[in-house]
Amino acid sequence: MSFVSQSQANSFNHEQLEKVMQQALVSSADNTDGENASYIPYLASVPSDLAGLAFVSVHGDEIVLQDADFKFAIESISKVMTLALVLEQSGAEDLHSKVGAEPTGMPFNSVLALELHQGKPLTPLVNAGAIATVSMVEAYNCEDRWQQILAFQSQLANSNIELSQAVNQSEQSTNTHNRAIALLLESSGCIYSEPMQACDVYTRQCSTLFNTLELARVGATLANGGLNPSSGKQLIQPENIPHILAEMMMEGLYDTSGDWAYDVGLPSKSGVGGGLLTVIPNVGALAAFSPRLDPFGNSVRGQQMIKQVAQTMGWNLFSSQQH
Ligand code: GLU
Repeated sequence: MSFVSQSQANSFNHEQLEKVMQQALVSSADNTDGENASYIPYLASVPSDLAGLAFVSVHGDEIVLQDADFKFAIESISKVMTLALVLEQSGAEDLHSKVGAEPTGMPFNSVLALELHQGKPLTPLVNAGAIATVSMVEAYNCEDRWQQILAFQSQLANSNIELSQAVNQSEQSTNTHNRAIALLLESSGCIYSEPMQACDVYTRQCSTLFNTLELARVGATLANGGLNPSSGKQLIQPENIPHILAEMMMEGLYDTSGDWAYDVGLPSKSGVGGGLLTVIPNVGALAAFSPRLDPFGNSVRGQQMIKQVAQTMGWNLFSSQQH
């Protein structure tokens, strides 16, 4: 029996959902809370009032609203895609033993979270675990590692995803904290390629540009047993999907992941570029973009829009019905 009931899975039609999504854009329009990320100079310069919302169903049906074609830096959401790539290459057991699946309850770049666990990262969805995950990609060298990650991002988006030189330069020149994390991972024996190269590739994977529709296609692949509904290609083995979605539920919104699970109950992942991806298993995926962030690094309007749509549609993995 599927975790999402059949009635939930079938409970939307295109017109109804598009209207609900339009309403979410309108009701969040006046929300100017939060600020663009400023610790990466490029992100501070993105127009703060942009807002995009998109949905892709498991059948490839697409809804694309407002600024959903604006290309933004994918940032932390890249961690989900590289997690999937490594699961495909190494299997769930290897990944779990090396990187783990526990929420840290701490900021995404926390060194304390590492120190408290003998230098072992807890999850691929914070910086330490993500750098370790990048180092696990089976590759001949640094360039091969990067090209595999970039190609996988393109396959998941069913689009030609490219590195932004501007974002990458901005990040590479300010990522001393992440380099320190890579060296700490080396000192605890928890990194599996040359640490500075792993950090370099990690920084590049955060610096690619996606639009909101392309991001929703990534999520629709996760909602659809790993088969990308837009390209028809099987990109992730179905048995790996629950591991990815569990990691997203545990740590997808940094140290407010528990609050998000409590309110929304859907596996999601945010990035400091303002993107937010939410997977509704067996239904599809919602993606939102808006640059202003809460103090934890999550898009303020993105959360508001997705929460409103999910609650209006009755999409919550933890809902049950009377029997
Ligand atoms: N490149 C960013 C960093 O490592 C990603 C952070 C994020 O989106 O959580 O700081």
